[in-house]
Amino acid sequence: MEISARTRFTAVFGDPVEHSLSPTMHNAAYAAAGMERAYLAFHVTAADLHDAIRALPALKIAGVNLTVPHKEAAVRLMDTLSEEALILGAVNCVINRDGELHGDNTDARGLERDLRQAGIMSGVRMVLVVGAGGAAASAVLACTRIGVTRILVCNRTIDRATNLARRLSHLGQGMNRTSLDSSGLDTLTDPNVLGHVGLMINATPIGLNNSSFAPLAYEATPADCVFYDMVYAREATPFLASARARHRRAVDGAGMLLNQGALAFELFNNISAPIAAMHRALMSALGRA
Ligand code: NAP
Repeated sequence: MEISARTRFTAVFGDPVEHSLSPTMHNAAYAAAGMERAYLAFHVTAADLHDAIRALPALKIAGVNLTVPHKEAAVRLMDTLSEEALILGAVNCVINRDGELHGDNTDARGLERDLRQAGIMSGVRMVLVVGAGGAAASAVLACTRIGVTRILVCNRTIDRATNLARRLSHLGQGMNRTSLDSSGLDTLTDPNVLGHVGLMINATPIGLNNSSFAPLAYEATPADCVFYDMVYAREATPFLASARARHRRAVDGAGMLLNQGALAFELFNNISAPIAAMHRALMSALGRA
């Protein structure tokens, strides 16, 4: 792709950001669509987030994705917010609408698409979500929309899990009647709970640096329990490797990344995402082509 004076930019802000595969996916999409656009990665620290976001209108940057640790802090920096960003209390997409900055969040929709496309949800009644940050909130929203009966949020800091369950409890009161509870990580070794879990989602960065996962009684889960790690890497994460060793189905977050990225592309560019090109680029970067 040739960058010229006419090229318009989109980007990701994160700290760290070097590991991000978003540039790979989005630039493949621009090439496939023949657009004069390019996607960059900026290492933006928490202290610089305000200035970096406020520079978008002046630089005519069409939109940016936000990754760790910016998603929650960015809520206060937007001119307008989508309903989904408000529910999740987190922004992963900033869209520059002629100088007005609109915050949206495509994580829950991306995860929901991936869970449905991978055929993971059929027959799942209870979901256990590990973590209580923005990613965990998106898992709760996605699973509520899919219509599971019960969601248990487990977190190292129990108060955060309780707050998240309380804040999102209204989501389960709609048509699907999903109950939402919270606990600490000790639940991960409680066979009385694990015996009912149909899907376990890791929404924490544990295992990102090959650190081992929290103590978890994999063998206490039903044989058809699916383990889903939002973290993705070339090698299976410790959470998924241990699940596979117990003959459980194990899926990483590459499909969520692809789908949230495709949705972001559509918000930034107002055209359908060339998702096959994005998928090919992502799989190649992960050594799965
Ligand atoms: P976050 O807001 O920083 O939340 C992190 C969560 O992880 C918290 O609940 C935290 O517990 C827990 N945690 C962190 N380190 C831990 C440890 N050593 N032991 C136990 N718990 C620990 O982050 P987030 O935005 O929700 O993102 C979480 C993960 O999801 C990240 O790895 C992110 O890359 C991934 N993600 C993937 C996708 C995708 O497309 N695949 C999309 C979004 C996010 P405490 O509350 O106790 O600190």
